[in-house]
Amino acid sequence: MNSDRPGLPQALDEALDAVLPILNDMKKSLRVTPVASRAALDQLFSLPDSFIKKDPTSPGAPVVAAAPSVAVPPPAPASKTPPAGDDGRLVKLAELKTKILSCTRCPHLVTSRTQVVYGVGNPFSELLFVGEAPGEEEDLRGEPFVGKAGQLLTRIIGAMEYTREEIFIANVLKCRPDMPAGEAGNRKPKPAEMATCLPWLRDQIDLIKPKVIVALGLTAVEGLLGEPRTMRDVRGQWLDYHGVPLMPTYHPAYLLRNQTMAEKRKVWEDMLLVLEKLGRPISTKQRGYFLEKGQ
Ligand code: SF4
Repeated sequence: MNSDRPGLPQALDEALDAVLPILNDMKKSLRVTPVASRAALDQLFSLPDSFIKKDPTSPGAPVVAAAPSVAVPPPAPASKTPPAGDDGRLVKLAELKTKILSCTRCPHLVTSRTQVVYGVGNPFSELLFVGEAPGEEEDLRGEPFVGKAGQLLTRIIGAMEYTREEIFIANVLKCRPDMPAGEAGNRKPKPAEMATCLPWLRDQIDLIKPKVIVALGLTAVEGLLGEPRTMRDVRGQWLDYHGVPLMPTYHPAYLLRNQTMAEKRKVWEDMLLVLEKLGRPISTKQRGYFLEKGQ
């Protein structure tokens, strides 16, 4: 009998003595999820609490805050030093940029935009991320993915062992979709708008020559391919964009609205496929993000 349990009936005390060693053995045999790695994955796809607020109409559901309380630091300028074997693309890209920045193909967007959002990053990048269109912050800053979703994208890029300056980021639509008078927020670009603007992106791709394109969100996929798709059918599947492997995955803004481990994990699995396609080394830590059990 265990004398540490004064007051317990003898029968119950003896039963506890019998069952506790068995429970302890079972506990030792269980695989315990490494907390540090799990925390790393959480941190990888998470933003500061100040970026998230609760939706009063849906208790417990996180939604994106109306305005960020933390300033997004401007990315460092991409290196302008061409690698050996430069094919003159810097000059051609500069000429293309001049044309894009003065484009007036969509009169309704010309009057509503602050500026054209050309794209940002390394003109010799092997990896191109493509989003759908500039939002309010991008329209003001003249750079794609600078808001909350952009900060999350930068974290994902970092987890892939790239810097934001090493890759190139652009949108299918270069001007912010206009909003009805008096309405705030952003709207999806229309198929006709994307079709009008797509030749600019195609010219960028022809000059940058990425080895892999990642399409962020279904709208970007549809804009690139020119036809409707479902995310269930295309996410995580290799598609082809004019001979360049195209990987569709979720838009970072979707992850901000759906912060489940399962959805984060899908995006990370897609990024591992991208790294494999590029022949990049994948560390045990990177693999381990989603090899853990119990998530
Ligand atoms: S959305 Fe594209 S095609 Fe339309 S005006 Fe802007 S840059 Fe030109």
